[in-house]
Amino acid sequence: MLQNLTRIVAQDKNFLSIINGRRIGAVTGKTIPVICPSDGLEFATIPACGVEDVNHAVSAARHAFDKGPFARMPAFERGRLLTRLGLLIEKHGDELAALEARDTGKPIRQGKADVAATIRYYEFYGGAADKIHGDTIPFLDGYTALTLREPHGVVAGITPWNYPMQIMARVVGAAIAMGNTLVIKPAEDASLSTIRIGELAIEAGFPDGVLNIITGFGAEAGAALSAHPGVDYVTFTGSPVTGTAIQQAAATHNRGVTMELGGKSPQLVFADADIERALPVLINAIIQNGGQTCSAGSRILIERSIYRDVASELGARFDNLVAGPHDADLDLGPMINAAQKRRVENYITGAAEAGGEVIARGSIHVDAPLTGFYVAPVLFGTVDPAAVLAQEEVFGPVLSLFSFDDEEEAIRLANGTEYGLVAGVWTKDGARQHRVAKRVRAGQVYVNAYGAGGGVELPFGGFKRSGHGREKGFEALYDMSATKTIVFRHD
Ligand code: ADP
Repeated sequence: MLQNLTRIVAQDKNFLSIINGRRIGAVTGKTIPVICPSDGLEFATIPACGVEDVNHAVSAARHAFDKGPFARMPAFERGRLLTRLGLLIEKHGDELAALEARDTGKPIRQGKADVAATIRYYEFYGGAADKIHGDTIPFLDGYTALTLREPHGVVAGITPWNYPMQIMARVVGAAIAMGNTLVIKPAEDASLSTIRIGELAIEAGFPDGVLNIITGFGAEAGAALSAHPGVDYVTFTGSPVTGTAIQQAAATHNRGVTMELGGKSPQLVFADADIERALPVLINAIIQNGGQTCSAGSRILIERSIYRDVASELGARFDNLVAGPHDADLDLGPMINAAQKRRVENYITGAAEAGGEVIARGSIHVDAPLTGFYVAPVLFGTVDPAAVLAQEEVFGPVLSLFSFDDEEEAIRLANGTEYGLVAGVWTKDGARQHRVAKRVRAGQVYVNAYGAGGGVELPFGGFKRSGHGREKGFEALYDMSATKTIVFRHD
């Protein structure tokens, strides 16, 4: 039954990169098949760009930064470009949601939520472009000192496959608002919405070379881009291992980087918490996007006196979760590809073999194509804080429960991984809310709430292995610019 549901995408099957305002294939003519994770079948191709294509894109971005109309464009007009792009995305919202869902396997309602967030990014940064300014600094007698916020120049944005449209938007929005030009390299597993938005940017009036999109494999196009001497700044969202490779490449030319590298985010549930309110949020934080979310809430730390009750409530809800194709719009879709499905399954079998207690397991819809990359969600109880499952980012629908006796232990467990991206704290005690929020090492802490990836206005990024630099909100505008100090002597 599910196989008969809509298969929408009014696109030609061969998507192209965009360099200097033109749609273009790889110089070699090589392509990469685009596979729908819901059925494992190819439905399009993208160019497999290499070094020559990267050189072409970077020189187009350089030219646009140095000499094109964008170089002298006032901030409010850069803002208008972003605002117009946001309006075009809204106009093409259904098409983009369907494209993103088919390309990544995410349920269509998540595709729609991604479109809504994407529009908000362009709206937010469109409005912010002319509202960020430097300072005047009290200095010596006879001097006036001031600061300007200057763009870096050519920004390389290397983006992942989990939220392609949204992550592109947070990079492009902040970079263009500050006057940078861009080369975006989306993930080879999910490039289509990035290409489509690149096309809409041309329609929105982005001058040639301001926003270039090159598709290709990470080890080829991505590596060439991050090591390119013509790139002034690199922003990356993805795995810590790839982040290290990109930082090393960028360090060859001492370029700055922003790194958003995932997490093992905890939610701390104290005995006085409003459990009814917490339960759906706790579930959604790991199930959204099939757990393939940097800020997925993958660890729940529960005060011992309520552990049994909360575990059994979560278990009952987990048992009912169903994975299925993107267009069936069930609780979760498939994993992005066969390798990711295997990786997640290995974590599950590894944890079970190591004696992990499986409290509950969701299911895969009976009509889901056997060739799709589905994993049924799993809930593990009383996990050892030193176990692999407690320490490593699974990036799948696998949730681990832990128990603690007091606030001290809860904080120690929360901070007991190499990551520090997001945390949730559930308690009605106001003093405890403040104490715990301050002591948990995470870039974002939610109290009696959890926002996996949400909130375009909210600075986002990690401590420790989760990375450095901040995206989203006004903070991203600082990352996407450098301060220039000018001192006038007039005595
Ligand atoms: P995953 O392993 O889940 O695919 P990655 O973090 O490797 O996630 O990928 C995120 C992005 O980084 C993708 O656009 C990918 O193509 C790119 N990438 C992968 N390897 C490299 C590399 N060595 N240099 C630059 N970019 C890379």
